[in-house]
Amino acid sequence: MEFKDFSLFINQTKVARFAEELAAGKIMATICKKCRKKYYPPRADCSGCMGSEMEWKPLRGEGSLVTFTKIYVPPDHFAVQQPLMPFSSIQFEPCPIGIIEVEEGLRVMGWIPKVDLKKIRVGMKMKASPQILPNGKVTIILEPI
Ligand SMILES: [Zn+2]
Repeated sequence: MEFKDFSLFINQTKVARFAEELAAGKIMATICKKCRKKYYPPRADCSGCMGSEMEWKPLRGEGSLVTFTKIYVPPDHFAVQQPLMPFSSIQFEPCPIGIIEVEEGLRVMGWIPKVDLKKIRVGMKMKASPQILPNGKVTIILEPI
């Protein structure tokens, strides 16, 4: 299997629901029913108690920016399609990417396509939302709130 085919197999995992819910507009986490440990991205098995009974919960997706950077080389699965970067009509146009900590204490990573890098600050309030790209793939974007 070549790496470029990897995304074709993602929906066959035990957490396939994550991709389905994302496409429907929800960012989901899982919570262990036994020890209440929370997971984002969702996990089907708990590393805390080794249990496999998980409950699914949508995240509100609002939180504070923990860190950010600018991506100069697109991830491989974005490089297959044109344009090469999401939200860009120019190949290899750098795009900011960040991680927010949401109310549940979980951290969510996403693209920051609508904010100039110079205006992005650690601690700023942002909301994570699923976004469907022109090629039909789903990603997560972060926007100031
Ligand atoms: Zn557990």
